[in-house]
Amino acid sequence: MDLAYTPDEEEFRARLREWLAKALPTLPPKPSPEDWPGRRAHDLGWQRMLHDAGYGDVHWDASPTLRLIFLEETEKAGAPYVGAGFVGLLHAGPTIAAEGTDEQRARWLPPILRGEEVWCQGFSEPDAGSDLAALRTRARRDGDDYVVSGSKIWTSHAEVADWCELLVRTDPDAPKHRGISWLAMPMDAPGITVRPLKTLAGTTEFAEMFLDEVRVPVANRVGEENDGWRVTMVTLSFERGTAFVGEVVACRRVLRELAAEARGNGRWDDPVLRRRLGRLNAEFRALWRLTQWNVSEAEAADGIPGVGGSVFKLRYSHARQELFDAAAEVLGPASLDLDRPWMSDRLSSLSYTIAAGTSQIQRNIVGERILGLPKER
Ligand SMILES: Cc1cc2nc3c(=O)[nH]c(=O)nc-3n(C[C@H](O)[C@H](O)[C@H](O)COP(=O)(O)OP(=O)(O)OC[C@H]3O[C@@H](n4cnc5c(N)ncnc54)[C@H](O)[C@@H]3O)c2cc1C
Repeated sequence: MDLAYTPDEEEFRARLREWLAKALPTLPPKPSPEDWPGRRAHDLGWQRMLHDAGYGDVHWDASPTLRLIFLEETEKAGAPYVGAGFVGLLHAGPTIAAEGTDEQRARWLPPILRGEEVWCQGFSEPDAGSDLAALRTRARRDGDDYVVSGSKIWTSHAEVADWCELLVRTDPDAPKHRGISWLAMPMDAPGITVRPLKTLAGTTEFAEMFLDEVRVPVANRVGEENDGWRVTMVTLSFERGTAFVGEVVACRRVLRELAAEARGNGRWDDPVLRRRLGRLNAEFRALWRLTQWNVSEAEAADGIPGVGGSVFKLRYSHARQELFDAAAEVLGPASLDLDRPWMSDRLSSLSYTIAAGTSQIQRNIVGERILGLPKER
């Protein structure tokens, strides 16, 4: 493990910081959370700016350490997060970069990096969430196409996506982990119905997706037929291992803002609250160190994050909930105003212990694969 930065990495940091100081003031205002087309345009526009400045590919072509510096500096500067680009930039893209053919990389990666195409994730089904390998969406071969029928749920960004990383069952007779394939499905193919689902926070972050005889070219399969579970593990390792790390920096910024707010409104006089904020500060510092450790481990493993991502995901999602609970305490009665950013973040933080694998599932992974405890079944 090496946590020190090289001169080249420090030079990258300085150059990026300088560019951010010039670029951020030119950004258009952020659209409201309900305005999905506006959010898509805004988030892709930011990615385009990054691309044009030479930072577009930092999520997979750069070393994990450069990626970490990038996340740290963009968050510190208050730059937009990936937003609608989450799936494409942080787990579908990296999966294609790691597992795709040269043709697939050439087709799908540049439009993600240029901020032209949005991806969504069609993994979960009504009866296959934690037990993802139980998925039943069926793909049968017909010439050069798969014909896909079934349904998906909680498909983030489906409303505005161009592509879907889709898990399908290609061999219904094989043991459940062995009959799955990973496909890239064009979202404009006939037979796809997207029904948005409204969250507690009032926005449609995800959707139900119904697939009725949708034709997907066999050439869109990433990995071998029926080897999709292995490819899925690569996707999930990016999703749990690196996709959320930029948010840790944002949480540390929120913590500083909370302390300032508490000093201003008199809540700072409460020693219990001060202790709570102090403990959270220590927690997020530790999470940042854990992130650096995980990234350094990934660097030694061809850039693919390891199972340590589950430790991070488990602790981060709970710490995030505690952070925004503390924000409510700092705000007092003003916390009832759900339009305040911290309070909408408090609502959305509830989903963090479910999305990308629930806390119980992360604990199973940590118990079985890190601590070596007996398998649950
Ligand atoms: C904000 C958000 C965004 C999401 N985005 C996407 C997306 O883009 N694409 C996508 O495919 N999915 C997405 N999901 C779905 C997410 O992956 C699932 O919700 C999650 O995997 C849990 O599955 P489930 O909801 O079916 O719950 P279930 O699997 O039914 O679990 C119900 C409860 O039982 C517990 N449980 C289940 N099995 C075990 C076990 N073996 N041991 C211990 N406890 C267990 C769970 O921890 C949970 O508390 C998203 C979810 C959220 C909240």
